[in-house]
Amino acid sequence: MHQLKLHNTLTGKTEPFEPLVAGEVKMYTCGPTVYDYAHIGNFRTFVFQDILRRYLKQRGLKLNHVMNLTDVDDRIIANAAAANLGIRAYTEKFAQAFFADCKALSIQAPEHWIRATDHIPDMVKLIEELRQKSFTYDSEGSIYYRIAKFPEYGKLSKIDLTGIQAGARVDNDRYEKESARDFALWKAPKPGEHFWETEIGPGRPGWHIECSAMAMKYLGKTLDIHTGGIDLAFPHHENEIAQSEGATGEPFVRYWVHAEHLLVEGEKMSKSLGNFYTMRDLYGQGYRPSALRYALASVPYRRQLNFTFDGLTQATNSVERLRTFADRLKQGKFPAGSPAGFKEKAVKALDDFDAGLADDLNTAVALAAAFDFLREANIAMDSGRFGGEDAAAALGFLAKFDEVFAVVAINDAEKLQELGYGPAGDGLSDNEIDAMLAERQAARQRRDFAKSDEIRKKLAESGIILEDSKDGSVRWKRK
Ligand code: AMP
Ligand code: ZN
Repeated sequence: MHQLKLHNTLTGKTEPFEPLVAGEVKMYTCGPTVYDYAHIGNFRTFVFQDILRRYLKQRGLKLNHVMNLTDVDDRIIANAAAANLGIRAYTEKFAQAFFADCKALSIQAPEHWIRATDHIPDMVKLIEELRQKSFTYDSEGSIYYRIAKFPEYGKLSKIDLTGIQAGARVDNDRYEKESARDFALWKAPKPGEHFWETEIGPGRPGWHIECSAMAMKYLGKTLDIHTGGIDLAFPHHENEIAQSEGATGEPFVRYWVHAEHLLVEGEKMSKSLGNFYTMRDLYGQGYRPSALRYALASVPYRRQLNFTFDGLTQATNSVERLRTFADRLKQGKFPAGSPAGFKEKAVKALDDFDAGLADDLNTAVALAAAFDFLREANIAMDSGRFGGEDAAAALGFLAKFDEVFAVVAINDAEKLQELGYGPAGDGLSDNEIDAMLAERQAARQRRDFAKSDEIRKKLAESGIILEDSKDGSVRWKRK
């Protein structure tokens, strides 16, 4: 295994990564704000986090990973009030949609999936601690963090604080660097809006305090890794540092790892430009979850990802190539032994794959290692000098590959059906097709050709085309 290096926004350097406690990683991820469906940009960041998580596990590390759902913030409060709904009633639909979207994209569940509104007492406690240490002041029923009291403020986002007036405040949860000011920890209630009755008075938490309180509750004072999209570095993560380190006096996070943004056809995604997509929009257009995952994962996280429909089609083809390869290896009939030397070649491919991921999660290099290997193995299979041990070694490599990339298993149809898409009417799921294929293979083996033809016909009627290859394997495609 190669030494893992990660780019740390705090130091501005790519550094060797070692967890504080050997063998165990404490990781926190800012989850979605559930005021709407998450979009493909959000999922760029969530897929990156999943690749990181899966790769850490592949390296044998135990994960304690926390992801929150931000189910209270300015936008939620305003939207819930406008819809005349309680906060839970308003956010529940989007929370469930987020879980379903994650499942479709094979994003693993973290060890703790938690909601901000279940942790109001923890936030109140943290604000009280900050108050005791004079980091706060009150104004008109709200409580603010005094950034002048934390001289290290700005160390993550490297903002220049000169010219900022002491005591100037910002009430919004999200603001630009130019508006860096004392920010709200606790907000006074507004007429018609949801609030909590607490020891520090009635009101609701600011966005930033929730992540400090929840991260430290589940992971302790110092975390190994904190992730998010790059837009969160300021003000959200800067404020998390000020709150957590103000309260504990200890370093809050050792490695801050941020994903660059996704652009659509070179432009920032926005509803007004008509280039704003949720996963569901794309499934509705016939794209598969596996292709989306592949497209989002294939560009290393620190590069901007330019999402294009051409790219998505290429991703669909790449996934198809991997699946066809797996199928060929599983179904082909190969002579004994390893005449093509793929036992050694698989070791080398895995080493290249690991080298790519260890280098700050360079997914492009890891994918290149996989496709070089695939090309070579296909050539060897075509030439007939490929043995059973070669196939087993190649399948071993693919299994390792898929522990991280998770696109080889054929399960798009089921996933789409679960989300309410997928083949209409009597369309067959991938599992049903696989079962029918197995039945057809068995019929062929016992030379029951009438039965095998009947199955082929049935599949054809459902729009499934079969390709029998010389080596005995069978591939299928939807028309
Ligand atoms: P939010 O729901 O706005 O709190 O965002 C959820 C996650 O998506 C955060 O980690 C954001 O940084 C990230 N994010 C938002 N927009 C984009 C984008 N266009 N590309 C990549 N990540 C994004
Ligand atoms: Zn957060």
